[in-house]
Amino acid sequence: MLFASGFAWLILGVLVPGAFSDSTYLVQLAKGAAWIAPLASLLLLLVFVSWVVIQTHTLRKWERGDAPQCMRCGGLLEGRVGPFSPYSKCLACGKTQ
Ligand SMILES: [Zn+2]
Repeated sequence: MLFASGFAWLILGVLVPGAFSDSTYLVQLAKGAAWIAPLASLLLLLVFVSWVVIQTHTLRKWERGDAPQCMRCGGLLEGRVGPFSPYSKCLACGKTQ
């Protein structure tokens, strides 16, 4: 996800304007891509930072014993949605519960 921020900047801020800035019809696309590149990159960076904060908070809860734990190994459980019902998968041993 962190790399996606850099790729968005590279594609929208460098490659698209460089490829289309000489075209008569696509020069507006190049200007729009150059304008939106920092916003898209910042948005992806914010999503990444939010994901890191949420995962860190979940790990801290698991360390304190406030999060659901695997019955087999005591590892952190991750909630998932299956085709028939929701289930939990242990991030340590990979067993489903
Ligand atoms: Zn486990």
